[in-house]
Amino acid sequence: MTPLRILLALGCSSLVAAPVTVFTNGKILTVDDAFSVTDALAVEGARIVAVGEAAKTLGRQGAGVEVVDLGGRTMLPGLMDSHSHPVGAATMEFDHAIPDIENIPQLLEYISSRAKSLPEGSLIGIDQIFITRLKEQRYPTLEELDRAAPVHPVQFRTGPDSMLNSAALRLAGIGRGFKVPAGQTGVVVFDEAGEPTGLMHAFSPKIEAKAIRRQPNPAETLQLVKRLFADYNSVGFTTIADRGAGQSGIEVYRKLKESGELSVRLRLSHTFGAGGQWRTTEAALDEIIKNPLSRPDPMLQIIGTKIWLDGGMLTGSALMAEPWGVSRIYGITDKEYRGVQRTPSEHLTKMIRKVSEAGLQFTAHSVGDGAVQLLLDAYEAVNQEVPVQASRPSITHSNFMTPASIAQAARLGVMVDMQPIWFYLDGATLLKQFGDERMSRFQPLRTLFDAGVVVGGGSDHMQKIGSLRSINPYNPWLAMWIAVGRHCRDLDRTLHPEGGISREEAIRLYTINNAKVLFLERETGSLEVGKRADFIIVDRDVLACPLDDLKTTQVRETWLDGKRIWTAGVEQ
Ligand SMILES: [Zn+2]
Repeated sequence: MTPLRILLALGCSSLVAAPVTVFTNGKILTVDDAFSVTDALAVEGARIVAVGEAAKTLGRQGAGVEVVDLGGRTMLPGLMDSHSHPVGAATMEFDHAIPDIENIPQLLEYISSRAKSLPEGSLIGIDQIFITRLKEQRYPTLEELDRAAPVHPVQFRTGPDSMLNSAALRLAGIGRGFKVPAGQTGVVVFDEAGEPTGLMHAFSPKIEAKAIRRQPNPAETLQLVKRLFADYNSVGFTTIADRGAGQSGIEVYRKLKESGELSVRLRLSHTFGAGGQWRTTEAALDEIIKNPLSRPDPMLQIIGTKIWLDGGMLTGSALMAEPWGVSRIYGITDKEYRGVQRTPSEHLTKMIRKVSEAGLQFTAHSVGDGAVQLLLDAYEAVNQEVPVQASRPSITHSNFMTPASIAQAARLGVMVDMQPIWFYLDGATLLKQFGDERMSRFQPLRTLFDAGVVVGGGSDHMQKIGSLRSINPYNPWLAMWIAVGRHCRDLDRTLHPEGGISREEAIRLYTINNAKVLFLERETGSLEVGKRADFIIVDRDVLACPLDDLKTTQVRETWLDGKRIWTAGVEQ
C-alpha cells in the first residue's frame, strides 16, 4: 500500500498530498488478458491505483479525491503506433505544401509547377507517391515526365524504386549499355531497343544536380515535431515507435524530453549501415549498444536496430518466394523476377547475434514472403547458439507470410509489426497482380493471432501531418476497422474476410500487443493496477457501435502518466 492509500484507509484524507482521481460511470476496456470491462478506475500521480469496485470505494473517501463522471463514455488504454518516421514526416512540407496526388495528370501538373518555381537544372524530387495508389496504377512514362519538365531533371521516387526523366538519366550517366556498378544492388530497366526506360528497382542513381529545398533549422524542426506529436495525441496515441531513427532525429527527441515537452512515449529502432564491411557494421552496432538512450526509460528509449532486407510491395521490389509475374503495373518484364534483396545474407546472422546478445531488438524491413523466410531462417540459425526470444526479434511489415513461416515465428517468439492501412490502400492493386490465392497470405492476421504470434499495428507514417491526409495515414481507428472488416479501397467487396480479427483483437494490436513489441508491457498498454495512467476517452462505444462507425471514432481526451495532455476542442 502506498502512503496515500494508508492515509485514506485511516480516514486522514485531509493530510493527503498527492490527489487521487477516480473515474466512474464509464465503460472501461482494461485490455487485460481477459479483456475485462469495468466501470471505474483510480489514478494517483502517474499510476493506476485501483480498478472496478476498489476504485469506487476510493471514490467515496471524500476529501483529497476528485471524482470524474465519465457519463457512460468509453475509456481505453492510450494507443500505440509501432511504426512511424516522425521527424521526416513532420518536416516534409516545410518548403512547400504538397498536394494530394491521386492520378498521373495531378502528378504531372505538380511536376510542371515545380519546374516553374525552381531554377533550371535543379532536381525535382518526388518522394513516396505509390503507383499502386494512383488511379492509373502505373509509373509515369519517360515521355510524360519529359513533357512536364523538359529541362529540369526529375526523380520520381517510390520506396526504393524510382523513375527518371531524360535529363535525370543524362545527369546520372545512365544510357545504352549501362551496368549497375560492382558493389551496388538494384536493377535498371531497358526497353527492347536497349534504351533505359527511366525505371530502376532498388538502385540509387547519382544524379549530378542540386535539389533546392528550404530546410527547417533545429528550432523549427522541434516545433514541427511537437505539432505532429500533438496530432498523434488527438487520435489517441500515447506511444510511438520511430522505425528508422538516426542521430539528428534522436537529438530532437532528446531536447523535447529534456524540456518536458514530449507528449508521446518514444521507442526507437536505430538505423546503421549494414551493407559494407563487417568491421564497420560492428563498430556502428557497438555505438548503438553503448548509447545511454539504450537503457530502459519510460519516455525515450532506443529499443533496437533496423535494417532493410528487401524492397517494397507498393513498388514492385519486395522479395517474394515465387516470381512476381510479368507486370504492366510494376514494369516487370522478367518472368523469373522475385524482387530485390537489399542487405546481403552474409552478415545477417552476425548482426542478429550481436544485437540480441546486447538485449536489443533486431528488426528488418521484410515485405515479401521470400524476405520474411530469409529473416526467420537467420533468427533460427542464431537461436541454435543463443536464445533470441528475450530480445523480441521482430519482422517489420511482414506483408506476405506462409502458414509455415507463421508457425516458425510462433516457435521462435518472433514478433511482427504490420500495417493494416496498406491492406486498404493497396489490396485491390495487389489482387490484380497476385490473384486471389496468393492474396490469402497477405496480412494473415487471423492465422497470426491463432498461432500466438505477437503482432502489433503501425502506420509507417512518413509524410505530412494529419491522420488521414498523411502518407501513410496514421489514423488508428481506420486501421482497426480494416483489420476487422478487411476492406479495400477500390474493391466492391472485402478481401479474404476470414483473415480478419475481432474488435477486441484489433484494439490489442494498438495497445498491449504493441506494448509487448516495444518493451513497455510492464508500464503501459493495458489499464491495470500499478501501470502508468496512459488512457483515452472516446466518443462512442467502440465494441458495440456499427462496425463502419469504428473508423470515425473521435477521441475526447488523451492522458499520459496521469496528466491530461490533449482535450478535443481546446487549443493545445
Ligand atoms: Zn517505415
